[in-house]
Amino acid sequence: MSQPPLDTIVAVATPPGRGGIGIVRLSGPLCRTVAAALLERTPEPRRATHAVFRDADGTAIDDGLALYFPAPHSFTGEDVLELHGHGGPVVLDLVVRRCTGLGARLARPGEFSERAFLNDKLDLAQAEAVADLIDSGTELAARAALRSLQGEFSRRVHVLVEGLIALRTHIEAAIDFPDEELDLLADSSLRQRLAALQEDSARLQAAANQGRLLRDGMTLVIAGRPNVGKSSLLNALAGFDSAIVTDVPGTTRDLLREHISLDGLPVHVVDTAGLRATNDVVERIGVDRAWEAAAAADEILLVIDDSAGITREDLTILERLPPGPPRLLVRNKIDLSGRAAGAGDGEHGQEVRISARTGTGLQPLRALLKARMGYADGGEGEFLARRRHLDALQRAHALLEQAAAQLLDHGAGELAAEDLRQAQLALGEITGEFTSDDLLGRIFATFCIGK
Ligand code: GDP
Repeated sequence: MSQPPLDTIVAVATPPGRGGIGIVRLSGPLCRTVAAALLERTPEPRRATHAVFRDADGTAIDDGLALYFPAPHSFTGEDVLELHGHGGPVVLDLVVRRCTGLGARLARPGEFSERAFLNDKLDLAQAEAVADLIDSGTELAARAALRSLQGEFSRRVHVLVEGLIALRTHIEAAIDFPDEELDLLADSSLRQRLAALQEDSARLQAAANQGRLLRDGMTLVIAGRPNVGKSSLLNALAGFDSAIVTDVPGTTRDLLREHISLDGLPVHVVDTAGLRATNDVVERIGVDRAWEAAAAADEILLVIDDSAGITREDLTILERLPPGPPRLLVRNKIDLSGRAAGAGDGEHGQEVRISARTGTGLQPLRALLKARMGYADGGEGEFLARRRHLDALQRAHALLEQAAAQLLDHGAGELAAEDLRQAQLALGEITGEFTSDDLLGRIFATFCIGK
């Protein structure tokens, strides 16, 4: 790992705007120098110290509290000075300018967290969790982010890495000492350990997927011909009126995006313009955008009016739906058709029967949607994860399966050992043990300044 940088960084750590308190944070070797000049002394370590913040000519800029955390016992692992003053943009700017005048430089986005990572205070998954905790949009996501920040996810990754290392050592020993006749193919403990590792890896993947859903949510597209009840369904799922519900076909001309929470799981719902051929120019644009949205969705709900049955137009839409995302047929208006609510397999795949008007069948639909996204109720979202983590876990899992095949089908110990080593590297990307500077730069650049 590279050496920590030696300059001193400064930034306003509180959000822009006006507030009761505004915090300027510094990290680096100049903290004591800055304190000596600005506060006319270095505050006692880890003690809130009342002080006047003074400009170069001795005039007071602000009056507040100072906190000094000597290295290595600080967030970044370096000397850290926090100046808690009044939360106004001008006064905070004056404090920051005084600090830069004393030799500090303005911090880049995420640079405090980056230094914490470089000084082994946090691993990469934990540093990302800092940003995710701050950005979380639901209570469940916030709780899960905190668990990641506290190291829950990293710990699970380490357990898996240790299992991989132990197995690889075992295999390599067998390769190095062929005389001892460790027959890889006949070694039943080896089979068991491989199977156990594969299971652990699958479980971790499922948990991480859950964590990713909590962070990013899922995108749901509601498609169907006009007047089948798409807007009504969106409103019913969202729990308040957001789309225009009307009897005139073709009123929902544009895409409507709603962010709703399905029992804590963020869902971005896209209600599409009636997916149909039209000569109206404005409506045409809406229709085109509907198809684009459908192709990028995590799930497509194709809504039909059950009182009319599946019409030729419904079938045309069904045929033209993008092949990628999974889809679910929603038979709406069962209050008119008289069909019983519920879910099951129909001739067009899985279907649910609901009434957006009366609300019948909506709860099972919610449960089904969550299940189809791999979100288990009661799983509580053990930790928060990102797409990047899931990719690494998937790669590691595939390598583990490849290793198993090499070993159990071909007795190819060396190839299996190499696969296990690669799997370990993939997992190391999650915690940042094996991560390119390029990727690190990209990750921290998405953080905000002062974080
Ligand atoms: P969209 O064009 O597909 O978005 O359809 P809307 O949501 O605008 O609904 C069209 C019409 O069907 C409106 O008059 C709704 O009140 C009605 N509607 C929607 N869902 C139901 C339902 O479950 N039962 C009944 N009886 N009417 C419904």
